[in-house]
Amino acid sequence: MKAITIDAYGDASAMRLAEVPEPEPGPGEALVRLAVAGINYIDVYMRKGIYKNSRTYGAPLPMTLGMEGAGVVEAVGEGVTDVKPGDRVAWCLVRGSYAERAVVPVDKLVPVPDGVPFAVAAALQLQGATAHYLSHSLFPLQPGQACLVHAAAGGVGQLLVQLGRIRGARVFGTVGSRDKAELVEGLGAERAILYREEDFQPIVRDLTGGEGVHVVYDSVGKDTIHRSMASLRRRGTCVLFGASSGPVPSIEPIELAEAGSIFFTRPHLADYIATADERRARASDLFAAYRTGNLHVAIDRELPLDAAVEAHGVMESRATRGKVVLRIAS
Ligand code: NDP
Repeated sequence: MKAITIDAYGDASAMRLAEVPEPEPGPGEALVRLAVAGINYIDVYMRKGIYKNSRTYGAPLPMTLGMEGAGVVEAVGEGVTDVKPGDRVAWCLVRGSYAERAVVPVDKLVPVPDGVPFAVAAALQLQGATAHYLSHSLFPLQPGQACLVHAAAGGVGQLLVQLGRIRGARVFGTVGSRDKAELVEGLGAERAILYREEDFQPIVRDLTGGEGVHVVYDSVGKDTIHRSMASLRRRGTCVLFGASSGPVPSIEPIELAEAGSIFFTRPHLADYIATADERRARASDLFAAYRTGNLHVAIDRELPLDAAVEAHGVMESRATRGKVVLRIAS
């Protein structure tokens, strides 16, 4: 079968379309024929080798990329009873989805309801579950609380803005361009800030009557983190959950005290979908919000499997607004 693999870590050109052996499902696993593979920023980190020593995501080379997919079960391994051939499923945080087929442990699969397109199902896995745990579990937003979402027009960002609004919070978002600002305000953000042109920190203070926000969701990292901490109200929470501009080298504990006795956390999605029950509960909440029209899921573009290099290119050049998927089958 065809798959996108890397033999060495590197830039987008390190990826190539290769012929690899078709996987076989073992006990507790399912073989899925992929309809779409989702593109996520974590794929860029994996390709560059940023996670090569990670206990959660490290893997030997050569490797097939892709941490998310949606498609149809083709076969199941020994002892599998809760999915069967023909079922529509989606998953995330299992490597190997940039491929025609993938083997996935069944406890990582979520059922995809009829009426939810595969591209949407993929968007609601890694990015959707992230927006969900950030707004519902890590810092469960309450009506009237104020939050700041960086990269608000991105895959996670657009969903997080909307979930914040659904929970009744005031949402401010940062974006890299004017058209993204319009988009994010259209999704319910009270104010989109062009953080490449204006300093978001005094603006956020002004918008909150000098107090600061209750929580900052920061996926940008190196370029924003110090001003994110300074945008919080006393005893607010700084959530660093990504490194789109580069990793944050270090934070001194005393900085937390000086910023107003703030809380600082660096979460991983894996710890918020650690059980099948939690994973499926988040997915079913998100699918329900989509099906009732309360959650808009933006599919930025669909590209063929052999266009993975282009897909990473648009992601890294900040050109995407929402989800990018590789379309593998209908
Ligand atoms: P996005 O669609 O958000 O793409 C990244 C966006 O980051 C860009 O579009 C851009 O938006 C912004 N950005 C800011 N600075 C830079 C820069 N120097 N280079 C490139 N982009 C930049 O990606 P995802 O939705 O897939 O992921 C968002 C973030 O969330 C990633 O950092 C990812 O690692 C993280 N993540 C973390 C998880 C966790 O549990 N810890 C789980 C899932 C995702 P703009 O032009 O508007 O600034």
